[in-house]
Amino acid sequence: MDNQKLAELLFPHITKTPEEYEAMYPPRDLPEGAKVTRLGPSPTGFIHLGNLYGAFVDERLAHQSGGTFFLRIEDTDDKRFVEGAVETIINSLRFFGIQFDEGATMDGDIGAYGDYTQSHRGEIYQCFAKKLVSEGKAYPCFLTEEEIAAIRTEQEATKQNPGIYGKWAKSRNLSLEEIEAKLADGQPYVVRLKSDGDLSLPEDQIRRIKVEDAIRGVLDMPENDQDTVILKATGIPTYHFAHVVDDHLMRTTHVVRGAEWLPSLPIHIELFEKLGWQPPVYCHTAQLMKLDEEGNKRKLSKRKDPELSLDYYRNQGYHPAAVREYLLTILNSNFEEWRIANPDADIEEFPFTTEKMSTSGALFDLKKLDDISKDVLLRISASDLFDFLQAWSEEFQPDLAHIFDDRAYLEKILDIGRHEAKPRKDHIYAQQMVENISYFFDDMFKIEDEFPAEAAADVKPILQAYLDSYDHSDDQSQWFDKIRQIATDLGYAAKPKDFKKNPDQYKGHVGHVSTVIRIALMGRQQSPDVWEIQQILGEERTRARIRKFL
Ligand code: GLU
Repeated sequence: MDNQKLAELLFPHITKTPEEYEAMYPPRDLPEGAKVTRLGPSPTGFIHLGNLYGAFVDERLAHQSGGTFFLRIEDTDDKRFVEGAVETIINSLRFFGIQFDEGATMDGDIGAYGDYTQSHRGEIYQCFAKKLVSEGKAYPCFLTEEEIAAIRTEQEATKQNPGIYGKWAKSRNLSLEEIEAKLADGQPYVVRLKSDGDLSLPEDQIRRIKVEDAIRGVLDMPENDQDTVILKATGIPTYHFAHVVDDHLMRTTHVVRGAEWLPSLPIHIELFEKLGWQPPVYCHTAQLMKLDEEGNKRKLSKRKDPELSLDYYRNQGYHPAAVREYLLTILNSNFEEWRIANPDADIEEFPFTTEKMSTSGALFDLKKLDDISKDVLLRISASDLFDFLQAWSEEFQPDLAHIFDDRAYLEKILDIGRHEAKPRKDHIYAQQMVENISYFFDDMFKIEDEFPAEAAADVKPILQAYLDSYDHSDDQSQWFDKIRQIATDLGYAAKPKDFKKNPDQYKGHVGHVSTVIRIALMGRQQSPDVWEIQQILGEERTRARIRKFL
């Protein structure tokens, strides 16, 4: 077979040579050890936690080493393309603090290694497919869907490995004349890799590939034997081929991707070999798992777990710093230890390594995220929290605009109890914060809890006495002395332990009395310090709330 002739026959329109592309995209001029990473999301409109998890690894590896991190849009699967998805990807990642140095942007490409959108790179893939054909390493395959289905049936019946390889790869043996005739006849074809692998050999003679994965250590797998499709009938590349060509020409040094790509690694290694290129360092990340209600570990699922979508965190109003901090705790097993030793350090100072990454499934846990968020928000000033809440509300709850009218008031509310030796950790995410502080605003204030049974019959006398004795300028201890006085006057123990000792002598204790006041003022049994809250509410609002019950 004259492979050169076949290549010209299949790709007459490809005039650029591989050497020209190599010259167009020379090795990058970066300092020794600098890593080049990329994120290659598919624009399906759904951007998930796994994308962010991977992006974080990419970003850290590149920026920690003085390298480059770029965005490549992997849109070869046109059936799944969603309008506006690229914008969503860029915006969501930016929101969570992931910045690209290069690649696709809303205003076109930035960088010298583009085009960064796979659907614009057709001629590049075809050029390298042409090279493989011209060297006898790839060939056109005319098998129809029906023929492939029949092959599968036969393979199943005779218990042989599925796929197109070895003797099943019938188009391998076509002569140039036969191919010419089929082309003249308009028969559709794909281009397949002509694999040298052979898995039909006795077990101990099967060639194995050994690849050092930066997360998993040495991977030892049987070589590929499949004549994998590299160009579809439309001339569009498969993921396998696009990955190899792009990551070579874009000079990616580290490919971070999900463990779902592990089984196809032998294909990629064979493609790199056949093209005469050095493969990148692979970093196959663990699957994101969660514990379900029964306590079983399972993969996060798009259908069952809303928290898989990044939109979930934005809607709920998780602060990006909290999500980042949380991701690092599941990414690197030594992060928490580092954080304890460096409570105020910037997250960027943490020495992130792929070796400390889990290989067996990263456990994702919303409760843990909430705990971390509490700590992270504690380090954010009231003024920054105000701005964050306001931005969130503008996007997701515009009806809350009025709570931002009085900046000083809201900042005081957000700062309650945060500067004590043992600070309060009330804030978790925007939606929860707004619900938590709603009683400070008259339009959202409502009675949520019941008065304690011990004092329910005395609500009016308690509140009347409270109002009569109320002096807004009382300090905390003067204020509490008055509550104690009210309690004793009305037949309640001044101390809970007195009531516990002699329950028959009292209606209840001072705690029940103060809970009545708390509910009248806040509508809730649980709240931060009442005196402090009154100072923020102001005298007028405090009196008005009590008066409403009288
Ligand atoms: N487009 C692929 C995906 O979305 C990217 C995989 C890779 O990073 O190589 O899964």
